[in-house]
Amino acid sequence: MTGFEFERFLDDLGPEKTIYLHDPRSGLRAILVVDNVAAGPSMGGVRMAPDITTEEVFRLARAMTLKNAGAGLPHGGGKAGILADPHTDEKERLIRSFARAIRDLGDYIPGPDMGTDETCMAWIRDEIGRAVGLPRVVGGIPLDEIGATGHGLVACAEVASEFCGLDLNGATLAVEGFGNVGRPAARLLVERGAVLVSASDSKGAIHAPDGIDVHALEEAKEETGSVTGYTRAKAVAPESLFTLPCDILIPAARPDCIHEGNVEDIRATLVLQGANIPATEGAERRLHERGILSVPDFIANAGGVICASVEFHGGNENAALEEIRGKIRRNTRQVLEASRDRGVLPREAAVALARRRVEEAMTLRRSFR
Ligand code: NAD
Repeated sequence: MTGFEFERFLDDLGPEKTIYLHDPRSGLRAILVVDNVAAGPSMGGVRMAPDITTEEVFRLARAMTLKNAGAGLPHGGGKAGILADPHTDEKERLIRSFARAIRDLGDYIPGPDMGTDETCMAWIRDEIGRAVGLPRVVGGIPLDEIGATGHGLVACAEVASEFCGLDLNGATLAVEGFGNVGRPAARLLVERGAVLVSASDSKGAIHAPDGIDVHALEEAKEETGSVTGYTRAKAVAPESLFTLPCDILIPAARPDCIHEGNVEDIRATLVLQGANIPATEGAERRLHERGILSVPDFIANAGGVICASVEFHGGNENAALEEIRGKIRRNTRQVLEASRDRGVLPREAAVALARRRVEEAMTLRRSFR
């Protein structure tokens, strides 16, 4: 065999750099993929997992290129993976070792992802002076605490509802994954008049056709650790959440939870993709064919990265919320208009928009500065 193993991942956008990191003293084994930096230094999370793969990090880095371009941020996309159990006692040592290893790779700005959090980002910044998603006490905007992605989903819902003839006031809502994305999205949509009828987490799902009191649900989740602690709703099988009647469905937990096996039974009018890749390619196509509007993940759930970008550029919480609302409203409209006018899937329109922005930025750059 000739050539490099990573050649199958290369195309006209990137990746620009693929770096494997190994420190025999700390035990660090990690990979950094800087996909594209035409619009600015790449921004993307540091994932820590015992089963992370090279391919996963390549795909996630590209997803960040598209997400950052789709959100209109002055950042390219990158992603890092640390091969380790996120519950290890050696976590701080590994994270600090990772930070020192990427010190000179200034075209990558690390953020939190699965297995890392704002404390990890504070350790990284302590080592090398750059990271986003920092704790408030060191000048960060705690994006999960303020529900950044939830705010973005609501902005997306406001615009998308016009395209599918849905009135948010009185619309019924089902949320898979009552976590950092699903929980604020549910609360904020209820404040806009929606009625939460189903919610789930890793421990189970609940359903109440007449509505769930979202504040009581938050309390129950806080006290018992699960939405199933809310007693004024019926416990249902988690898988049924997708097919119970509702107007708006927000998958906000697992990948591929909308798939060939349940897509024909989905009854929602609008799907807001809170999680990353919550639908298989085939299922997303079927939703479109069935006339169900599904807003792609990297447009709908960009609130977190917009917040991180505002933090990086010195903005405060209010500026972040304003930026999230403005950008997501604008991008949702642009994508859905293009999808409608050209008769293509919203995802195809979104990828085209993001690619156009990256390619335009690339014309302004000298290769390998
Ligand atoms: P989280 O850990 O805060 O919440 C996830 C929730 O999903 C938890 O309540 C968990 O119990 C639940 N869950 C896990 N497995 C489940 C299952 N099988 N069925 C139902 N619920 C289940 O995570 P999060 O930050 O809310 O992220 C959720 C998704 O959104 C992920 O795909 C993440 O990559 C994506 N995302 C998050 C952000 C962000 O700002 N946090 C931004 C963009 C995308």
